[in-house]
Amino acid sequence: MNDLKEFLTFDDVVIVPGASPVEPGEVNISSNITPSISLSIPVISSPMDTVTEHRMAILLARAGALGVIHRNMPREEQARQVSLVKKASPSIWSEVPRIPADVEVAAAFIFMDETGAGAAVILGPNGFEGVILRPGVDAGYWYGKAEALRLLYSTVKPLPTIDSDGLLRVGAAISPFDVERARMLDRAGADVLVVDVAHLHNANAISALARLSKEVSAEIVAGNLGTKEGVLDVLSRVENVAGLRVGISSGSICSTGEVAGAAVPTLTAVMNAREALEELGLHGKIPIIADGGVRNPGDAAKAIIAGASVVMGGRIFAGTEESPAPKIRVGGKVYKPYRGMASRGAMERRFAADRYSKPSKAIEEGVEGLVPYRGSALEVLAEFASGLQAALGYAGAPSIRDAWTKGRLARVSAVGIREVRPHDIMT
Ligand code: 5GP
Repeated sequence: MNDLKEFLTFDDVVIVPGASPVEPGEVNISSNITPSISLSIPVISSPMDTVTEHRMAILLARAGALGVIHRNMPREEQARQVSLVKKASPSIWSEVPRIPADVEVAAAFIFMDETGAGAAVILGPNGFEGVILRPGVDAGYWYGKAEALRLLYSTVKPLPTIDSDGLLRVGAAISPFDVERARMLDRAGADVLVVDVAHLHNANAISALARLSKEVSAEIVAGNLGTKEGVLDVLSRVENVAGLRVGISSGSICSTGEVAGAAVPTLTAVMNAREALEELGLHGKIPIIADGGVRNPGDAAKAIIAGASVVMGGRIFAGTEESPAPKIRVGGKVYKPYRGMASRGAMERRFAADRYSKPSKAIEEGVEGLVPYRGSALEVLAEFASGLQAALGYAGAPSIRDAWTKGRLARVSAVGIREVRPHDIMT
């Protein structure tokens, strides 16, 4: 017990500024979630029933990211959700009316009045030129979306996340014990099956996943894992692992660390997974997905510098228009519900919807709450895209691969973190 390990969290470290060969706007943040699936924006949404169903997945894939459909529903319904994404048009513009650049502004307003659209995209000979807003539009959603589109396209020009047939890509959550669900999702066209258990480093779960992985053609992301040994054991026993989902107990709605006392904070989990992959010569070949506790682009950049390829977020998307949760008005402010998948509410729904999913543990390991409503998920992506470019610019890394080798993190004291944030003013 004398050599207790220290597990670092996002707040324990800062990014060390390094000599940058490029301007932040030139930093390339494209990355991979599996060897064959690349993303223009390395952010994916958590498979949670208040975060990702088809609407979120469609929007994220259109904008160059990816959604993972949750599994808190019957397997037929989850497969239907996957096929809705595969059937959707890959163009981000399909939800927004288009107006040629040579149309008079007045005519554009008449068109928007007639169609009821609050915003329209202006297309010139070379594609996107801008967004026009209808005067007096007070629908925050439309304004937010138009503003987000402008932001998104002024920073990066993301390609949609599409497969070789030009269809949107989509992920789906699976249990290692439900082969039938995995097969059905595979047939429905899921591009990546994301294992969705709190602690994959468990003999039964690993053997079940080893069997399941032979039954499907979709790529498999294994998780959640937190330790080097966990990663090594999974990789030695399961073939075809195409990605690792790491982080235990860092989620904003997670109470595992409190209830069960167990945790590997996401930043540490990434470092541990990287150590395992480097030992096997596989770092950069099997992507690491940092999952839980990512609050802003700074956290995402720290995870990437530590060795991750992609970050997964729940809370950052839960308050957006595209999450499946309803809007709730409390005292003049708008919120959306957000809950852990091991919270009482989510567990009750699961056991009612899927009789094959039995309670393996009786305790709750998640909480339920509200998050402020924040407009379209496009705004979140725009914030992460430009924030990541800025952070990697500071780190002196023109790309994510460069961030792994050139990026450096330094520890700050628990007291010092106050100084690094806005402080000592009234806001
Ligand atoms: P967030 O982005 O909100 O900080 O964290 C989201 C992540 O928390 C999910 O991707 C998942 O890994 C994890 N998670 C979701 N529900 C629960 C839960 O009920 N308990 C625990 N321990 N983790 C959860």
